[in-house]
Amino acid sequence: MVRIEGLRKSFGSLEVLRDINLNVMPGQVVTIIGPSGSGKSTLLRCINLLESPDAGHVWFHGANLAADHVNVNALREKIGMVFQGFNLFNNKNVLDNCTLAPVLLKKMTRDEAEHVAMEHLESVGMAAFAHAAVNTLSGGQKQRVAIARALCMNPDLMLFDEPTSALDPEIVGEVLEVMRRLAAGGMTMVVVTHEMSFAKSVSDEVLFMDRGVIAERGTPEQIFTAPKQERTRTFLARYL
Ligand code: ATP
Ligand code: MG
Repeated sequence: MVRIEGLRKSFGSLEVLRDINLNVMPGQVVTIIGPSGSGKSTLLRCINLLESPDAGHVWFHGANLAADHVNVNALREKIGMVFQGFNLFNNKNVLDNCTLAPVLLKKMTRDEAEHVAMEHLESVGMAAFAHAAVNTLSGGQKQRVAIARALCMNPDLMLFDEPTSALDPEIVGEVLEVMRRLAAGGMTMVVVTHEMSFAKSVSDEVLFMDRGVIAERGTPEQIFTAPKQERTRTFLARYL
């Protein structure tokens, strides 16, 4: 579904991504771990063209994203993204947050969009809050709404950038549970996370990024129980 070859990205003289290669197959969950500043967010942002690569190629469903004729808006409809900071419209209620893009971009009728939104709110356990103002919700509830909102666009791929990092420890679990169910339902996901037990139990492949390269990659068993690289071991030791 996603193929990345020789991806490079610099900001000024800072090389943030250096020769990244990655394949994500339909239904796979790939998690990315690694220290702050290693390029994890930049890699995700190159997949949905929030950043444009300096070199290399990114394909999505076989289409080369560097090609001039790529319709960025159509692409982003197929790629849902959930950030650390929720990025909800705080002046709108939960339901309106979920129906805005489908009505505007997918030309759904209001009724259709609400029907779809209620199904997804139900699936994340937030249907009862459909008419609540966003600013009355807890962080975990906001993040579950953000996931539902992304699902309303019927994406083929979901990108998560540290979705639980801003949450109090006691509500991290409710968001991870929603993500676990999404993965079990067959959603293709690329997840940047510091939640090692989640990465261990849900991932098909784990990438350890360090200073702009994928320093090590493998199954959760390989990465978490028998890492080959010293820097992977040092990084993981902080989470034990
Ligand atoms: P974290 O775990 O802290 O989120 P990360 O692995 O996601 O880190 P990135 O956000 O990808 O790291 O950033 C990698 C490097 O690129 C950092 O040094 C960051 O300061 C720099 N960087 C990221 N975006 C920009 C930008 N738009 N302009 C300049 N530098 C940037
Ligand atoms: Mg980041």
